[in-house]
Amino acid sequence: MITINTEKGLVKVESWEDVESLPGFVKNLNPTNQKLDAIIGRYIFKEKINCGLSNCHTPHAKGFIVKTIDGASTNIGKDCGKTYFGVDFETLSNKFDRDITESENRDKLWSFSFKIDEIQDAIHNLRCSEYGANWIYKKSRYLVTLGADCPNEIVKQILSMGKNRSSGLFKPREATDFEIEALSNSQNRQISKPHFIEEKIADISGLDALYPENDLKNILVIDLEENFKTFISKDIDQLSFEDLKYWSKWIGTVETSLQKANDSIQAGRNLLTQSNLKPFLTLLTKNEDKLIFRRFLEGLTNQT
Ligand SMILES: [Zn+2]
Repeated sequence: MITINTEKGLVKVESWEDVESLPGFVKNLNPTNQKLDAIIGRYIFKEKINCGLSNCHTPHAKGFIVKTIDGASTNIGKDCGKTYFGVDFETLSNKFDRDITESENRDKLWSFSFKIDEIQDAIHNLRCSEYGANWIYKKSRYLVTLGADCPNEIVKQILSMGKNRSSGLFKPREATDFEIEALSNSQNRQISKPHFIEEKIADISGLDALYPENDLKNILVIDLEENFKTFISKDIDQLSFEDLKYWSKWIGTVETSLQKANDSIQAGRNLLTQSNLKPFLTLLTKNEDKLIFRRFLEGLTNQT
């Protein structure tokens, strides 16, 4: 890849012949008594190109195209640049690299800006479709908020399963005489009665919808929608180097965030079905709580 600074700004050219046809270009420049005027290009290639200085000619895959005050231009690597043109070369090559980064980031933001409508439609669909993100977020809050619409025993259990990232729903029950005997034998000590064991009663799917990194409000509203609002209000042509860097990095995360939101919605749909959450009923002892939770289940889908 070759980037050349022209009157029209930085342009990319494909072939090395374009460089050799630049006015004043020489393949064999004697650096003695030459002074650097400007850096006019940069290149990165797979195949190496010989340094244009007459006393060097080391092959480089990466280098700069420089112009001297006498009007001659040639290609050199970073080391020759520093050796023959000193601090000026370092300052100018750093600036040239920075200008290229700036211009590439600006181009990236411009091409991204043409896709904004499409992405915003996609976000709207993810949020507002039937059993979409808005529905999932609202329903799932009840499962993780103490004192809201679900009995606290269930909320505590779900929070603990989420914290341990474990899908198994366990309930304590009194061990049978036979189990106590087996346990006493295996542990070589007398287990006294009553003894409780944790029994797995179900595997709950979709709990990952409740993990903090899959939080649909964070992904779709706080990250995507808010950043889109800010991004749209910016004039890309006026953005500073730092802002261009920030936004280029952010647009690089948009695709992944959408995928994450999709996965979280899928998990949320698996979680919020009557059959998936029904086993929690067995944790409840009070009839009043059972009634409340049944009512909550009725508001979910009944897919299996
Ligand atoms: Zn050289």
